[in-house]
Order: sequence, then C-alpha cells, then structure tokens
Amino acid sequence: KDITIAIDGFSSTGKSTIAKLLAKALGYVYVDSGAMYRAITFFAMKKGLITTEYFDREALISALPNAHVSFKFNSDLGFAEVYLNDENIEKNIRTLEVSNLVSIVAAVPEVRAQLVKIQKAIGKHKAVVMDGRDIGTVVFPDAELKIFMTASAETRALRRYNEIKNNGEDITLEAILENVQKRDHLDSTRKDSPLLKAEDAIEVDNSNVTIEEQFQNILKLVNS
Ligand code: C5P
Repeated sequence: KDITIAIDGFSSTGKSTIAKLLAKALGYVYVDSGAMYRAITFFAMKKGLITTEYFDREALISALPNAHVSFKFNSDLGFAEVYLNDENIEKNIRTLEVSNLVSIVAAVPEVRAQLVKIQKAIGKHKAVVMDGRDIGTVVFPDAELKIFMTASAETRALRRYNEIKNNGEDITLEAILENVQKRDHLDSTRKDSPLLKAEDAIEVDNSNVTIEEQFQNILKLVNS
C-alpha cells in the first residue's frame, strides 16, 4: 500500500540523499520542498526585491501570482528538477547567495501558503517522499511515516561544503557553517510554521552512519 513519507530536519542533515534513495527504491515521487522556497528566493532576487541589505516584502507578495514553481522529472538524473515559469533553475538555486536569503523569504506567510498548496496537491495520491522543515507538521500531518533527521554541526557543514564545491563555487567552510547556523536559527524561530519535530516523528541521527546503513534503517521503518 502506498504511503506518504515526510522527512524534516535542519539544513544539510542529509534529508534529500535519503529521500531520493527511498523514492527510487519504492517507486515513489521525491519532492524537494526546499527547492521551491529557493525558487521563490531566486525569483525575488531577479526582480531586485531582495539583497543582503534590502527586502521589499510587500512587492514580493504582490508579485507572487507571477511566480509559478513546478517540477519536471529528469530521467537522466533520476529526480525532478525545479522550474520557475518554465525555466529550469535547478543550478541557480544552489548558490550561497540564494542560501543566505532563502530563510528570510521562507518566513513570509503568503509564500508558504502558495507553496504548501502545491505540495499538498503533489501528495494527494500518496506514494511521495517529501523533505523540508514543516512536512510532518503542516504539509502532511497525516503522513504514515515521519522522520526527523539530525546530524552534528560538523557533519552538516562538511556535507554542504562538498555539495557547493561540486557546484563549482569558491567558498570557505567558515562561510558555509555561518550560513547553516543562521538558517537553523531563522527556520526554528519564525512565527509561521517554524521547524518543529512532529509529535509522531521518529528522530534519526545521521552523523556517524554511512548513507547505505541509514537507507537500510529507514527502509525497515517503511516496511514495519
Ligand atoms: O532544504 P533546503 O536547505 O534546501 O531549504 C532551504 C530553505 O528553505 C530552508 O533553510 C528554509 O528556510 C526553507 N524551507 C522551509 N520549509 C520547507 C523547506 C525549506 O521553510 N518545507
């Protein structure tokens, strides 16, 4: 029987790696909800509505009907890439610049309402693995399996560092660590849908296990 799997947790705990593997093994759809918040952030940056010094929140809210975020499955990559108004922006949203602004944009209730609506629609027929910050609490409160992923700060910073380096960006480990900590703070203290462990979520520590071990652990939870 198809189920809904919600994976939440702080930045760079390895949620998406596990979520992608699960989706592949189960034949489910994988949805990276963070990519959607990044897409709206990229949209706001392109429109000149947000910089590190400035944020025109009202203008972004007015412009939201013009920001269509969607996913298209890329069979070569084996997962869905994110699109903004029919433009593939998968590469544009992984930069440190977007990472530094996304938690500000994600704190706007109108942004959340627009994206949560799409997320709920994607999950309507179950057979979905979605990762994010509010999936088990807000998007799929009835998900059959909820994972709350944790990992040490070092593990997380190093993971992000390797990810960004592979993307070709020249960046220091300190800058990443700072970004990860700042986002954790903003994500867990915002008023609207802060990052919270759902009451019925299973906490999984991802610090000292290999990806394969963790994948097997969670697959057991799916089958139990
Ligand atoms: O998952 P990722 O680190 O790419 O998410 C980027 C940001 O998007 C998070 O730091 C958070 O501010 C926001 N986000 C959110 N709710 C989600 C997923 C992501 O607020 N469900």
